[in-house]
Amino acid sequence: MRTISVLGSTGSIGVSTLDVVGRHPERFRVHALTALRSVDRLVEQCVRFRPQQAVVGSEASAQLLRERLAAVSCTTEVLWGPEALCAVAGAPEVDTVMAAIVGAAGLPSAVAAARAGKTILLANKESLVMAGPVFIDALKAGGSTVLPIDSEHNAIFQCYPTVPEAHRGVRRILLTASGGPFRRASLDAMMRATPDEAVAHPKWSMGRKISVDSATMMNKGLEVIEAHYLFGLPSSAIDVVVHPQSVVHSMVEYVDGSVLAQLGHPDMRTPIAHALGFPDRIESGVGSLDLTMMSALEFEPPDPVRFPCLRLAREALLAGGAAPCILNAANEVAVEAFLDGRLGFTAIAAVNEAVLEQLAHSPQASDLDAVLATDREARSAAQRRISRSS
Ligand code: NAD
Ligand code: MG
Repeated sequence: MRTISVLGSTGSIGVSTLDVVGRHPERFRVHALTALRSVDRLVEQCVRFRPQQAVVGSEASAQLLRERLAAVSCTTEVLWGPEALCAVAGAPEVDTVMAAIVGAAGLPSAVAAARAGKTILLANKESLVMAGPVFIDALKAGGSTVLPIDSEHNAIFQCYPTVPEAHRGVRRILLTASGGPFRRASLDAMMRATPDEAVAHPKWSMGRKISVDSATMMNKGLEVIEAHYLFGLPSSAIDVVVHPQSVVHSMVEYVDGSVLAQLGHPDMRTPIAHALGFPDRIESGVGSLDLTMMSALEFEPPDPVRFPCLRLAREALLAGGAAPCILNAANEVAVEAFLDGRLGFTAIAAVNEAVLEQLAHSPQASDLDAVLATDREARSAAQRRISRSS
């Protein structure tokens, strides 16, 4: 029996996680569920999974959740705020933490889980991007293990050599990208793109922030940085290939010319079940892949002109220091402004580039507080640019 805290349980990854967990009541016990403010969904989840604790973002949401749970005789204890999130991530009775909060807000709890030696199922790629070295130090200090949930990184993990001595046999990895909703769009059309168009992903159903990141291809840029930290590979050994069918989830190429790929339906329950069951394989609810029913599998290079965010991410990775954290923060602010109708779609990349340039000489943060300070500084710089341009 494993005891799990699901951070961000009401989001796209959180809901898929509980779908898989619910299929295996003999394997998993839920200790805590958390959400920012989706009280209705959290009530349903608490009634079904009976966690010891639930965490929400504010006192008002906590009050509402307590009343709603009392009305259905659910005894889950309700806590609120970032410190409570860290507490349920590091709770002694928990052995596994699903880190599925979106954005920088997920960093402190992911680090708390790392320090406490938990097995971390990492969906929140932003924590590795913002704080790679600090996060890895916390993992080492806590003796913690990370299993990647991002479908590409989970695919790479499945195809990667299991023993460290064999790692030198890897020539490169290939991250696949769907190309998002604007794969074939003109730059003109992209300049006029609305939030509804940008979040209408052709293959994956995801939260709004990552959907916009997929449309700009910043998601793939963040994933290049994520892969660098997860697998210890330089940017030059991490390639990106656009694969619109989203059936091949990523590949590892070896020095002998072999290429190993992981295939499956574009359904996050597959990587989630892989990590939840690891090293066993467990049912995820995802059906068989019928290759005979599929049209051709296509692969093409990404277009650097329409998708500059991919280049920015590589530049940030090569620059090192605080650059990935700055890029991530600027991007979160720009995406939020775009979703609120305060910024054009193509201006997201422009804001990211300008903030990255402006703060280029910020020193590498050596601990969590310093990372969070860099994050705040880059957010203010991005906000200033956006208000000046509107
Ligand atoms: P989502 O927006 O659907 O859900 C986010 C969850 O985080 C919700 O439960 C929300 O209540 C919670 N949350 C948001 N802001 C918070 C805050 N300030 N404090 C505490 N909780 C907060 O997002 P998602 O699509 O599930 O993505 C979650 C993470 O997983 C992201 O880092 C994303 O990049 C990554 N990811 C998602 C997918 C996918 O298919 N959705 C695939 C790969 C990686
Ligand atoms: Mg991904």
